[in-house]
Order: sequence, then C-alpha cells, then structure tokens
Amino acid sequence: MKISLIIPCYNEEDALLPLYEELFRVTESMSDFEMLFIDDGSKDHTLKIIKELSSSDERVKYISFSRNFGKEAAMYAGFCNSTGDYTAVMDADMQDPPSLLPEMVKILEGGEYDSVATRRVSRKGEPRIRSFFSKLFYKIIRKISDTDIVDGARDFRLMKREMVDAIVSMCESNRFSKGIFGWIGFKTYWLPYENVERVAGKTKWSFFGLLKYSIDGIVGFSNTPLKIASWSGIFFTFVALIMLIVIFVRTLIFGDPVAGWPSTICIMLFIGGIQLFSLGIIGQYVAKIYNETKKRPHYIVAQSNKEDVVKK
Ligand code: UDP
Ligand code: MG
Repeated sequence: MKISLIIPCYNEEDALLPLYEELFRVTESMSDFEMLFIDDGSKDHTLKIIKELSSSDERVKYISFSRNFGKEAAMYAGFCNSTGDYTAVMDADMQDPPSLLPEMVKILEGGEYDSVATRRVSRKGEPRIRSFFSKLFYKIIRKISDTDIVDGARDFRLMKREMVDAIVSMCESNRFSKGIFGWIGFKTYWLPYENVERVAGKTKWSFFGLLKYSIDGIVGFSNTPLKIASWSGIFFTFVALIMLIVIFVRTLIFGDPVAGWPSTICIMLFIGGIQLFSLGIIGQYVAKIYNETKKRPHYIVAQSNKEDVVKK
C-alpha cells in the first residue's frame, strides 16, 4: 500500500525541518511512503532545504513552481503527480498534526470509508476576528450552496485513489478545495482535533486574501447571489408599480402639489445602488467565466526531481 503525502510550501524554511523529523518518526511503520513537497515559488530557502532532504532521503520528491501560484494550485499539482494508493494533503506548518496520519491510514484500511478528513473543533490561538469571519463564511456558504462544506474542515485528508482521480478530473481554474471535496462525494470519516498553532513562521493569509478566497468559494459553488440580484430586481419593479398607482390615484384626488424631491433623490440613489450591486454580482461570475475560458495552466513547473512531471 503506497501512501503519498502532498505538502504545499510557501516560505516555510523554519517549519520544514521540524515537520520532516516528525514525519520521519510517524511514518516509520509505513513501508511504501513518499513525500511530495510542492514549493509554491518560495522566496526564502525552502527549496534549498527540500533539495537537501531529497538528497539524503529518496522518499522526498519535490516540484518547484516558477512563481507563487497559491495553495490551491500547489495542491492540484500534488494531486496530479501523486502516485500512491492513498494520498494525503498536509500543511507544512504542522497545523495538520502528522501524528494523526497513522490513525487515518488505519481507518481507510478498514475499508468502510473512501477518505478520512480532519476538522478543527476549536480555533484556539487564532485571532478572534478571523474566527468570527470564518464562521460567518461557513454559515453563509452552507445555506446557499448544495455542496456539503463542513465548518472547521481542514484540507488535511487522506483519500483513496478513486477520489484523487475525481479531484484531478475537476480542472477548473478557480479552485476551492473544500467545495471540490464535498462536491465529488464519497464516504468520508471526520476526525476531530484541537487547533494547533503553527510551528514556525507566520500565516500566509491576509484578511483580504481570505475575503477573496471566500468570494471564490461562493461564486464557484453557488448561484444564489445571481438569484438575489434577480429577485431584488423583481421586488423593486413591483414596489415601483404600486407607488405609481398610489401616486396616480393621489394626483386624481388631491391634485398635484410639487413636493417630495428629497425622497425622489433618495429612492433614485437607493435603486442605483441596488443596480450597481447586482451588476457587480454578475461581473464576478463573468470574470470567472473569462478566467476559465483562457484555459491557462494551473501552475508552471520550474524544477523537480520527479521524472515526467504531470503539468496541468
Ligand atoms: N501555502 C502555499 N502557497 C501560498 C500560501 C500558502 O503553498 O500561496 C501553503 C503554506 O506553506 C502552508 C499551507 O499552504 O503549508 C497553509 O498556509 P498557512 O499556514 O499560511 O494558512 P493557515 O494555516 O493560516 O490557514
Ligand atoms: Mg497554517
């Protein structure tokens, strides 16, 4: 049973050695094991350290991108190039505890499940404001998307070959893995664990980075914003019709004293705002369509110690 472990790394020079040591320890019992480090265009010594590891341990493989393409692209490159019967994705910062791996393998070997996914039951150590917005995002996306997206779910999961093949076949360029995992289905066992803080370095996500990512997730897995735009259009047309009738009747009865321009301006501004908002929503989807139609590669490989690297 071969196990591939995909590790996306972006500027993780301080985290790599502790991670490798821990992995070395927990995978002792696994006979056929490979670590596939994806260097996502790091600007520090990440690639150098990975290369050193690979020269002393032939289980270490790496693919290095020509620039930073983002974690989603790194994970996709990993899936496209993983050869194991079981494949897992794991963060380089040890926030996905390597010590869970043997247990995950055992559960998959039980045969009942196709994947073992992990879920943080606490967000201890994370900035309050980030937890608040994360929770809000999950609440919203779970309401408006048909896909099962679990709150607190990590990208850290171990999957059977069939599942990896399904992920590779989903070749959209706006990738949102949590949605993709839910969309493809399969039987998943959820393994809860307490949040762990990163071993070294700091998070690569800024507030706006996360905001953009969550909009990608919503646009990628729900059409509800478009429906909101059309429903608000219908609603305001209806309101306008009623107002028209009211004003018409009032003019017939009371005559036409000129008054009420402030309210007119307010209504115009309000409707104008709603129109631009709706256009913006449509624009988001159009932008995504535009991106998809360009069919650009997901990532560009600059170096690797793997023969025939799969490029997508
Ligand atoms: N990562 C990556 N490319 C990026 C940003 C992050 O490959 O552009 C990797 C990073 O090296 C780490 C994982 O994705 O292994 C998760 O990143 P991070 O710990 O910054 O995210 P957080 O845990 O704060 O959500
Ligand atoms: Mg992290």
